[in-house]
Amino acid sequence: MKVQNLKSRSKSRVLRRTPGGVIRVHYKKLRLYKARCSICGTLLNGVPRDYDVIRMGPKSSKRPERPYGGQICHRCLEMLLKVSIRSTS
Ligand SMILES: [Zn+2]
Repeated sequence: MKVQNLKSRSKSRVLRRTPGGVIRVHYKKLRLYKARCSICGTLLNGVPRDYDVIRMGPKSSKRPERPYGGQICHRCLEMLLKVSIRSTS
């Protein structure tokens, strides 16, 4: 990140003490992405919070590689698969 971008006051600043004992300014990102399950609403695992990774990274690192990965959580998927299999037989 460029120094010019850090002059913006839209990023919140946090003072952190480094291992060397020096107090430095750290910059926090304000907007973070939160992917939620569309059925139960819990936060999804394996989905990055950072918008830069979501925009630029490879598709396989943005959500789990399984059916409905990045849409519904593993508990709801388990329940749906059980219901669909039991209803077909
Ligand atoms: Zn769920």
